[in-house]
Amino acid sequence: MITAGKTKVLSLSMAISLAFTGLANAGVTNKDIANDQMTTEDVVSYGLGLRGQRYSPLDKINIDTVKEMRPVWAFSLGGEKQRGQESQPLVKDGVMYISGSYSRVYAIDANTGDELWQYDARLPDGIMPCCDVINRGVALYDNLVIFGTLDAKLVALNKDTGKVVWKKKVEDYKAGYSITAAPIVVKGKIITGVSGGEFGIVGKVRAYDAKNGKLVWERPTVEGHMGYIWKKGKKLENGISGGKPGQTWPGDLWKSGGAAPWLGGTYDADVDLLFFGTGNPAPWNSHLRPGDNYFSASRLAINPDNGKIVWHFQTTPHDGWDYDGVNELIPFDYKEKGKTIKAAATADRNGFFYVLNRENGDFIRGFPFVDKISWASGLDKKGRPLFIDSNRPSDPSKAKDGKKGSTVVAAPSFLGGKNWMPMAYSKDTELFYVPSNEWQMDIWNEPTAYKKGAAYLGAGFTIKAINDDYIGVLKAIDPKTGKEVWRYKNYSPLWGGVLTTAGNLVFMGNPEGYLLGLDAKTGEVKYKFNTGSGIVGSPITWEMNGEQYLSVLSGWGGAVPLWGGDVAKRVKHLNQGGSVWTFKLPK
Ligand code: CA
Ligand code: CA
Repeated sequence: MITAGKTKVLSLSMAISLAFTGLANAGVTNKDIANDQMTTEDVVSYGLGLRGQRYSPLDKINIDTVKEMRPVWAFSLGGEKQRGQESQPLVKDGVMYISGSYSRVYAIDANTGDELWQYDARLPDGIMPCCDVINRGVALYDNLVIFGTLDAKLVALNKDTGKVVWKKKVEDYKAGYSITAAPIVVKGKIITGVSGGEFGIVGKVRAYDAKNGKLVWERPTVEGHMGYIWKKGKKLENGISGGKPGQTWPGDLWKSGGAAPWLGGTYDADVDLLFFGTGNPAPWNSHLRPGDNYFSASRLAINPDNGKIVWHFQTTPHDGWDYDGVNELIPFDYKEKGKTIKAAATADRNGFFYVLNRENGDFIRGFPFVDKISWASGLDKKGRPLFIDSNRPSDPSKAKDGKKGSTVVAAPSFLGGKNWMPMAYSKDTELFYVPSNEWQMDIWNEPTAYKKGAAYLGAGFTIKAINDDYIGVLKAIDPKTGKEVWRYKNYSPLWGGVLTTAGNLVFMGNPEGYLLGLDAKTGEVKYKFNTGSGIVGSPITWEMNGEQYLSVLSGWGGAVPLWGGDVAKRVKHLNQGGSVWTFKLPK
């Protein structure tokens, strides 16, 4: 939106060109993205703002009015292969942009639900997504819609036509790389991680010029690999990640060390840092790689201009349970003894919730956010886990047959106390709303060796429910005390994102198909609507023509039906789908 102050400085030629193209169709700017959380007429970033708080200041839909909320349109993604729809929509100038399973993108008239265009990436045979053919959303910049594909490319489409403007290969899909996260745009650069930690890839974060796709920098997330920066077309070395090759790895294992930053990142302008989490070290069998295995299962603070690692915090050193440390790190401020603390919080797959100082990565506090944690008895003063050694799956090379180590029961399961599904933070209640799951697994280790493009685990597993009546638990957590303020229990595991609003509401979907609206202070269910298939997407809200809208994708799938073991059997009656639902209050 052009403000009065800005209009004054427009030159005549700029004014004419703006009049010609039409202000309503102006492209997305860095300022639009930086201000996204507070500008309610659009949603131009994953997380409703680069901090990823998933908080909206809108309050027309609130605990009193939400009962009147009803669907105004639904849009089918079509296609015979309906799979998990984990996308978060973006909205700009009355157009909604979503991604769908199998690397598809759609532009939809946000007033009517009419399709404006659809783009299908032609995926090659042999893509290797570990955990369903999902995508979590697009990025908008200038007149481009940019997203990552299952064959590890970035594709930029014209926002009005859906035609390809530029396309870049990020990594080699034949080695196991793919992209499923929504990229983010920071200061004109489109920044993406990669998936593939189950195939012994080397995790990397890469930044490209968003307008033309030219590579700006590359930062490997496994200790020992060289980073690069491109200046005037020249590739320059930009420091080895961690200083020296593989200090916390035995032998050459760092060369196929995993640590995939597969869930993308957040950004905080206040400290000018990107925050990316990294996945498991490869392989899963931890006895093959004694050491802390930097920078796996960690949060990394990265300089957005050159890709240098400014600080790192490892949640699970020497991981032996596939406790990927990718979960979003959400910057937030709080007051303590009259002082503002620049904090950031994350709920890890390993079952612990961490509050860090986002300026330097110092551990402030941590506490369990699930009921059962078997592998550690707690955290020390620096946030390092206190391991319970007997609960680590044993070394198979020491077994009688040399083929299978002892089976241990580990909680949480490898799908995590919390997986990819993003939590939300409300500045009104000062609470985090965390979608969590109570489940455990039988896990054992086996021998394995790295082979390009093959699964590199060295482990077997079966996930099991802990309780008969629920797995999913949405929790309201006070980050200052670790106190659980309320919980909402769900029969199926939760796998979708959370949204909170100034209307004192928390929205979330469940695999049973319901969009739920809960009282942010008490957890009381205030709204329920069944969308016809399981919800594993993340809801958004925005304002159009003076009315508040809410949208969410519906379409059951993701990792649970594929990897859930006994739990997958428990939810196998849930039907697949693929649609966007949009709601508002009646006039
Ligand atoms: Ca906005
Ligand atoms: Ca993993």
